[in-house]
Amino acid sequence: MANRVTIDALADWLRAQDDVLILGHVFPDGDAAGSALAVGHALAALGKRCAVYLPGGMPRLYAALPGADGVIDSPEALDFVPKAALAVDVSEPERLGEQGRAMFEACDRRAALDHHHTNPGFGQLYALDGDAAAAGELVVQLIEALGLSLTKEMAECLFVAISTDCGQFNFSNTRPETFRAAAKCAEAGIDIAGITQALYRTRTRGRTKLLGLVLAGLETSGDGRVAWAQMPEAMLREAGAISEDKEGIVNYLLEIEGVEVAVLAEQRGDATKFSLRSSDAVNVARDIAVPLGGGGHNCAAGVTLQLPLEEALSKVLELARRAAST
Ligand code: 5GP
Ligand code: MN
Repeated sequence: MANRVTIDALADWLRAQDDVLILGHVFPDGDAAGSALAVGHALAALGKRCAVYLPGGMPRLYAALPGADGVIDSPEALDFVPKAALAVDVSEPERLGEQGRAMFEACDRRAALDHHHTNPGFGQLYALDGDAAAAGELVVQLIEALGLSLTKEMAECLFVAISTDCGQFNFSNTRPETFRAAAKCAEAGIDIAGITQALYRTRTRGRTKLLGLVLAGLETSGDGRVAWAQMPEAMLREAGAISEDKEGIVNYLLEIEGVEVAVLAEQRGDATKFSLRSSDAVNVARDIAVPLGGGGHNCAAGVTLQLPLEEALSKVLELARRAAST
């Protein structure tokens, strides 16, 4: 039975562990990558042996983060046998991926730290704050609860974690605590202009080309409330892009005047992965992602269907149209 605890209690638990495996979710984003790395720096500062595992390894976009080169992508890469595991920014065990889940379950002691409202709670204990804009916000609190001061390394990872998940402090999940956590990162002396230029104001050629191709295929519903676009694998090849280059594209669909629900459908072999975004008027996690077996947040959710692109898209659009008109 998973026991919900405070961040202070999670810090007490962590202090008692050694040989810790820190895990993020599949298709790691800035929050998963930055938060997991920051916890790794914190545990190392406490003199503990630890490793950070991200399914598929460190995304290229975040490869410059301090500690990124030590991230592992398989159990074989471990140079110790972990006794304890901490999942960070993982909304449910399935989001660890098959391999990550096996690594998590193989540890005697298991815990989670997360900010997804839909998280049912897993591990022997978990700390959850569904109002936090990012898991990174909670990691700032965890580091304080561990009695550590925020180093520049930790702060860099956490600023990336926080600023990506709240859309650079633009999304409705941004709260006073989000700014306070970011301010603590700034106090640690990070190069905000440099970090944000690399992340938000630089695009590879492939990414730029992909953006153009996806937007060229834009479609909208008759009432203009739903916008969608498809991203078949051939499009990635044509653009010279990789899957992670699609990050952020769905927001362009949501930014169209009058659009309440934005849907980006990405072909992944025989399956289709959906990125769903909405204005405050619609809850895409509850009304679209969860009924189809996915999850996420009210305004940013996702689901993967084991169906070809067109068939999967028509299922999602049916729910999207309904959600946008009610
Ligand atoms: P994105 O569109 O950026 O991939 O995902 C947005 C959010 O939706 C993520 O933070 C995650 O919480 C959720 N999400 C995305 N894809 C999936 C999925 O396949 N399954 C579940 N359960 N949640 C997902
Ligand atoms: Mn997150």
